[in-house]
Order: sequence, then structure tokens, then C-alpha cells
Amino acid sequence: MTLVVTGGAGYVGSVCAQHLLDAGHDVVVVDDLSTGHRDAVPAGARLVEGDVAVVADEVLGAGGVDGVIHCAARSLVGESAVEPAKYWHGNVVTSIALLDALRRHRVPRLVFSSTAATYGEPETSPITEDAATRPTNTYGATKLAIDHAIGTYAAASGGELAAVSLRYFNVAGAHAGAGDTPALGERHTVETHLIPLVLQVALGQRDEIAVFGDDWPTPDGTCVRDYIHVDDLAEAHLLALDLLARGDGPDDGHLVCNLGNGTGFSVLEVIEACRRVTGHPIPARVAPRRTGDPGVLVASSARARAELGWKPAHTDLDGIVADAWAFARGRAT
Ligand code: UDP
Repeated sequence: MTLVVTGGAGYVGSVCAQHLLDAGHDVVVVDDLSTGHRDAVPAGARLVEGDVAVVADEVLGAGGVDGVIHCAARSLVGESAVEPAKYWHGNVVTSIALLDALRRHRVPRLVFSSTAATYGEPETSPITEDAATRPTNTYGATKLAIDHAIGTYAAASGGELAAVSLRYFNVAGAHAGAGDTPALGERHTVETHLIPLVLQVALGQRDEIAVFGDDWPTPDGTCVRDYIHVDDLAEAHLLALDLLARGDGPDDGHLVCNLGNGTGFSVLEVIEACRRVTGHPIPARVAPRRTGDPGVLVASSARARAELGWKPAHTDLDGIVADAWAFARGRAT
């Protein structure tokens, strides 16, 4: 198939693009390089540099596109609180432009990077897809709005457009390089995610890690999250495309699937894993809770397993951290 990956110069998008190439697909990456990196675009993919909203019509209008994986997004929760316009325009308005272009050019398949942030503070754990969606931050609200939009576009398309929204929990780890293919991992200019920040301490790039709250109603008092390896995540995108290509999606044309390992690890457990993997003492200090953080976010991935035939291969936290560490160390040398 010929597949367009928006945001293919970013963390998740570049790993998805690499997996698609490895599976023998042709890949076009669309990325404005505002947060992505030119050298993260896998060799073998064609890069169209530009804003998705601006170039979607041209890229899809050229014909022959079998599907789009839409990863391009603004994704900083804290920033979304202070700059909402950047998120409503950058995520929602851009995605509507993409959906319009998909319809106009009769592109039949879409896989969308959605998020656990669409659920907000859950009432039950693990979270299933029919849980209430009450996002606690603007980022999650924009992703939920796009999920709703996709559902209505697919339903109105008379079967011409089928889509899968994948609700990622905490993506972590890195895709190992091989031969001339470089490793692909997290390289955010503004880093806010726990594992890369802890590894920065091990690399001597920061003095300590702040633990955002130790008074949560969890076994050790710190927040619990469900960490999923980026290679497992990318495989789910390929399986979602396969499902859509077989015409096995739901009757209304839109499937929503959570993606997580189904196991929660606390912030302190993550820091311990990083200490084991790196051999560094990694000083930690308890800091106030971060606004908008739910205490526990753990996925039920039963639907992804049943509908996509997906099964994560990297469920061991130390293994996920070891891959992130190999990537971080490789970039620091
Ligand atoms: N966290 C922390 N210190 C940090 C960064 C994150 O204690 O410097 C916690 C955060 O409160 C959350 C967990 O680590 O409970 C994972 O946060 P991250 O930003 O990686 O992902 P999120 O769950 O917000 O998507």
C-alpha cells in the first residue's frame, strides 16, 4: 500500500513509518518539522515538508494513497492550558482539513493517534473504551473532538471512509537501529515525560527528578501509568490498517481502541527501573502534584487484542527503559 504518515518526523510517527517501510509499504511523510526532526524521517520515506492543513489536498489529490496514519499534533498538556488556540487550531482545525481532503479524494482508510487523555479521571480501572470521556486538559479535549469528528465523517461517507482511533496510554522505549538505519526515540525540545527526564538525570543532564505528588491513593502514593513500547504501538497501527483493508472494521466505519500493556507502574517504580538499568543512583525529590494529572491511568486493551489481533511483545518495564536508555545514551555521545 501507499501510506501517508502525518507527523512522521516525530517520535511515534517516525517509528510507525519505519515499521510500514519494513513491511514493504511505500511511505510519504508529511511534517512541518515544527517539533519533529528531519533526520528522524526514515530513509526510504518521501518527506513532504509542510503543515498538514496546507498540503493535505495536494498530497492526497496526487492519487494512489491507500491510507493515512495521522500522528501530527500538538501534544504538551501543560502548554495546552496556556495556549489553547495552538491546540484547537493545530489539532482540531488541522484534522478537519485532513478529513475534508480524505473525503474529497476518496482515501479509504485513516488511523488516528488518539490518547488516554480523552478519558480524564477514570471511575474504574482498567479503562475500557466505553468509559466516560471527560478530559481534564485542553490537549485531551482536542483529541476527543477529533475522535468525534472522525466518527461522523466515517458514518456519513457511505462506507467510503473507515477509521481506527488508537488511544495511546504512556508511550515509551525506542526503536533500535540496525545497520545504516538509525535508532528512533523521544527527542522533544521541551521534555515533560517521566522516563526521558529520569534518564537525563542518569546522563548528568539534570541533578534530580521531581516526583509529582506522593499522596495519591495508590500503593506507594505516586501516580500509576501504563507504559507501552513504541514498537508495540507501531505494530498496532499496521494491524489497524490490515483490519481496514480487509473491510473488517465496525459497521459504522469507526473503531476506537485503547493501547496499553494493561499493567500499571508507579512513578517510584519507574525511577527504580531506571536505577537498575542505568546503574545511576538518580536522586528523586517529592514535589507538588502536577495540575490535571489523574492518579491512575491503566488501559484495558482487550478490544485491541480481540479486534486487531494485537499483543504487546515488550511488557517488561526494565526492557522498555533499557531501550529508551540505549537511545538516550547513543544521542548523548
Ligand atoms: N511525572 C513526575 N515527574 C516528572 C514528570 C512526570 O512525577 O518530572 C509523573 C506524572 O505526574 C505522571 C507520570 O510521571 O504521573 C507520567 O507522566 P508523563 O508526563 O510521562 O505522561 P502522562 O501520564 O502525563 O501522559
